[in-house]
Amino acid sequence: MANAVTRTPHAQPHARPNPMSYMLGLKCRECGRRYPKEVVFVCEYCFGSVEVDYDYDAIRRSFTKASLAARPKSLWRYRELLPIEGEPTVGLTSGFTPFFRADRLAQALGVKELYIKDDSVSHPTLSFKDRVVSVALTRAKELGFDTVACASTGNLANSVSAHAAKAGLKRYIFTPSDLEMGKVVASLIYQPTLVAVDGTYDEVNRLCAEIGAKYPWAFVNINIRPYYAEGSKTYGYEIAEQLGWRIPQHIVIPAAGGSLITKIAKAFKELALLGFVEGKSPKLYCAQAMGCAPIANTIKERADIVKPVKPNTIAKSLAIGNPADGYYATKAVLGSGGWADSASDDEIIDAMKLLAATEGVFTETAGGVTLAVAKKLIEQGKLPKDESIVVCITGNGLKTQEPLLNRLGQPTRIKPTLASFESNLGDKLSGGPAR
Ligand SMILES: *Cc1c(COP(=O)(O)O)cnc(C)c1O
Repeated sequence: MANAVTRTPHAQPHARPNPMSYMLGLKCRECGRRYPKEVVFVCEYCFGSVEVDYDYDAIRRSFTKASLAARPKSLWRYRELLPIEGEPTVGLTSGFTPFFRADRLAQALGVKELYIKDDSVSHPTLSFKDRVVSVALTRAKELGFDTVACASTGNLANSVSAHAAKAGLKRYIFTPSDLEMGKVVASLIYQPTLVAVDGTYDEVNRLCAEIGAKYPWAFVNINIRPYYAEGSKTYGYEIAEQLGWRIPQHIVIPAAGGSLITKIAKAFKELALLGFVEGKSPKLYCAQAMGCAPIANTIKERADIVKPVKPNTIAKSLAIGNPADGYYATKAVLGSGGWADSASDDEIIDAMKLLAATEGVFTETAGGVTLAVAKKLIEQGKLPKDESIVVCITGNGLKTQEPLLNRLGQPTRIKPTLASFESNLGDKLSGGPAR
């Protein structure tokens, strides 16, 4: 029986309470087989992918809305629901990005209640990849890796480069060789070993799987993918929290590998399980570019198998022709009662301009995809005009300037005189003495 004398030798009554880990282990998404919380990413028995499993009963007892109030505004405020064992060590300033009502855009689209979740200003690398990388690198350090790597369409390259620099980890980054200059520079500045592969993302990814089998590196989106992918859940938690723990009726989500869609679905399921939200789960919609729409096509055909495609689109960050989570993303979207569509390059650019001109947000091509598809779904009546809609903006326009060159007009060039100003701007002047 416990008393002051028989206190266990490990008890340290004055030590700072060490947060518990609620991660039980890994579990195959197909056959349910369980694995220890190590470096496992495919089930040895059925080749299904594995995901992290938590002790939700224990989480429910200690993780409450009230406990959140005092926590820092970063993605780590939800740490009980993230796959780490000790304290977070990477990405302490990432997450908790702006969420706001977009009334001018809503008016332009003819809908009543529209919100933007804006990861275009994610710290430090301006895309939602800061979430997955914060979690992946914290876990990689716990697992004892000193070198991290990734196969990337650009944003992941930026984020792994930056976070690994700050964490003092060696970093190898693999991308297709045709990336936008903004994404190349925004990796090189952090001085990783950047490898530009002459091939598609899918070829880069296959090469990385081979390299990963030979070198003892943590490939964030390959061998430690189950941990990495969990970071995306925080995008969903934040939507719910920033909406005052209400559930939006519709969420439009861009897809590359399809992981973000599945994790937003998981986030809302978990919040319901923990009693943080009540009511119907949101309907999820998949947005892809017409030049690379393997998941959107599968959803629209209600097919069971995702057919790989060869990408050809300006939305390079979404250009994954053989999406790792395509099957699960399809199930998540159809299971929620949502739908999907794709957007052409012109529609993507028009949507980027619309978002900037109505809401003052400069998103990259991927954000153009999401908004263009949202607009289509509204026009088709799939997104009801009088229900709440969230549009997921996941990246920053400064990184993908190439497709905008020649599409925005030019500045009016003048001599440094009032006469030149007035003669060149002429009819564009408002409120001046000429009126
Ligand atoms: C990676 C990425 C996505 C999609 O991520 P998946 O989880 O692979 O579907 C969406 N938007 C941007 C800007 C990205 O970089």
